[in-house]
Amino acid sequence: MIDLRSDTVTKPTPGMLAAMAAAEVGDEQEREDPTTNELQRRMAELLGHEAALFLPTATMANQAALRVLSRPGCKVVAEERTHVLIYEWGGPAIHSGLVMQGLVAEAGRPTPEQIKEIDEFGPGSVLVLENTHRSSGGCVWPLAEFRATLDAARSRGAAVHLDGARLFNASVAAGLDPAAWGAFADTVTICFSKGLGCPFGAVLAGPAETIEQAWEGKFLFGGALRQSGIAAAAMLYALDHNVERLADDHARAKRLAEGIGIDPATVETNFVPIPDEPGLRERLFARGVGVGGLRPDWLRAVTHLGVGDDEIDEAIERMQDEVRVHA
Ligand SMILES: *Cc1c(COP(=O)(O)O)cnc(C)c1O
Repeated sequence: MIDLRSDTVTKPTPGMLAAMAAAEVGDEQEREDPTTNELQRRMAELLGHEAALFLPTATMANQAALRVLSRPGCKVVAEERTHVLIYEWGGPAIHSGLVMQGLVAEAGRPTPEQIKEIDEFGPGSVLVLENTHRSSGGCVWPLAEFRATLDAARSRGAAVHLDGARLFNASVAAGLDPAAWGAFADTVTICFSKGLGCPFGAVLAGPAETIEQAWEGKFLFGGALRQSGIAAAAMLYALDHNVERLADDHARAKRLAEGIGIDPATVETNFVPIPDEPGLRERLFARGVGVGGLRPDWLRAVTHLGVGDDEIDEAIERMQDEVRVHA
């Protein structure tokens, strides 16, 4: 099957596995794992922050961030189909006692006006911005818009967390450093198990004091590890080998869109949004192409490091008769 369901289906390559096998390791909880320490140092620098913390998943990184940035009874506000509101269960409510409020926004991007109108939103509350925005089809936040919305939250006294699970996709697509967005947010999450190709792993970056406090959440959620350098080695390998190549995924996604009659202008990164119709996913599956759900009435085909030019040609061939968006 040509698996375009998600970029989470990527598997560690031989090079990545070799880096994991060769990793120098120690006890992470004693802060003695040199590979994890090196990952944290590099990621803080890349994201424009003082410090960073390795966590097993980006879900845990988001939850640890919310816990340090908020007070129980306050709010977490985000576009209504961000990961933190739809795929992390009631995490913000359970772990941090937060009221979860979703905003309806074009391309996953709440405007400063929307932020000004939120009721009971101030110190102790958190705005979460997602870049790229998954449910809108991997859309990139233009930097000026991002800053305007972020500033609106700050002027209310709220904190801002950037869920940058796919921030490297945004960075490569826009030709900007990840810190261009990252440095302005209080905290930033990066996920390594998507297009970067790691089996798991995430990083949370922020001010030194905030990251120190985030250790509490890491313990509380059961995420403090021992020889985490095995994972950190894969993540360092991904930084060196799998970031720039995201541009190939983006180019292939555009080519796939063109090949199946979808406007390539709707493809900003590695997601091809496909209008859904009854049975389409099953028909594509029967022809050996896996696609995933994007949001109600939309499917997605996602390119990633397990899919090359030949697979894209083959996918176009198999999909073009089934996907009918031309009419
Ligand atoms: C996948 C994803 C996460 C969670 O990542 P895990 O490492 O799988 O927990 C968080 N936010 C966004 C936007 C994601 O796409």
